[in-house]
Amino acid sequence: MIGLIGLPFDKNSSYIRGTAKAPPVIRQALWSESSNSWTENGINLSNQGLITDLGDLDPNNPDEFNEIQKAITALLEKNLQPICLGGDHSITYPILRAMRPKYPRLGILHFDAHPDLYQNFGNNPHSHASPFARALEEKLVDRLVQVGIRANNDHQREQIRKYKVETYEMKDWRDDLVFEFDMPVYISFDLDGLDPSCAPGVAHPEGGGLTVRQAVRIIQTLKGKVVGADIVELYPDKDQLGITAHGSAKILKEIAGKIIASGKE
Ligand code: MN
Ligand code: MN
Repeated sequence: MIGLIGLPFDKNSSYIRGTAKAPPVIRQALWSESSNSWTENGINLSNQGLITDLGDLDPNNPDEFNEIQKAITALLEKNLQPICLGGDHSITYPILRAMRPKYPRLGILHFDAHPDLYQNFGNNPHSHASPFARALEEKLVDRLVQVGIRANNDHQREQIRKYKVETYEMKDWRDDLVFEFDMPVYISFDLDGLDPSCAPGVAHPEGGGLTVRQAVRIIQTLKGKVVGADIVELYPDKDQLGITAHGSAKILKEIAGKIIASGKE
């Protein structure tokens, strides 16, 4: 049902590189004997056939966007729902290019400290600061809802207005927020959406973010059919205690539980 795939690419990172090392680290935390493989909604992810691990793409591929799009298209053709492990956030754009033909209506729930809507950042249209600008201008998505945002600026606020993005900034956070989609929804989870106390191992830590519990609650209470996800921006070299890796594994489990449960509805 779920196709797990590693996308170890970080050359579009704007500040420091290192997120390409993340996929094996997240897998290790996911299956670590320090925890069990049950989701909070009662699904044992170790059960045969629930998760097919397709391994990682070749990190040295110079044409990684094409490769990502092809790999996700192939995964969808096998009727698997993708959970993609970054890498930096630039990978979401080619993933969405692959999702779009299968999902003529598609919403995104995007967790992040940053809106990632720069029209042009560092003269790199594929920067990890821009995946949602690219997706919106190419009309790959019908609705974009952002949570965790707390590093906004004038330019990105303009983009939010231009593309009618629904951005929930942390300054307006309420513990009872519930999100509802009347179309298939893809979850894009940038780990810096979490507070640095819960996720210190990211390249762009920004205080005042979500706890793992707050993020998990948003995933669990989400109304709508979840059809895929990515978990991006884990920076293993800054994660000596494994706090971020284990947090990302928790998020992965709960997203997987949600995908599997929404497939049964
Ligand atoms: Mn991001
Ligand atoms: Mn971010």
